[in-house]
Amino acid sequence: MTEQVEVKIPFADLTEVTLQCPDCGAEISLDISKHPNVSDKCPGCAHAIDSKFDEAFSRLREWYLCLKDSSFGDKMFFRIKK
Ligand SMILES: [Zn+2]
Repeated sequence: MTEQVEVKIPFADLTEVTLQCPDCGAEISLDISKHPNVSDKCPGCAHAIDSKFDEAFSRLREWYLCLKDSSFGDKMFFRIKK
């Protein structure tokens, strides 16, 4: 039996969000501190990128900017299982 390890990642340590193309595996990384234009196509194979990704990234970025300089900025964590 494989034991799962839970990792606690400070929200303030978030640097990028990466989208991986389901067809070719190309990765599109977006810097959370910037507001890049998200392409509507994969740069590797032109697979259409759902506009919901751009919307979700924008919301996450707003959340990041709102909290990073607050007193909770370094007291908020993501927990992931490895
Ligand atoms: Zn692709």
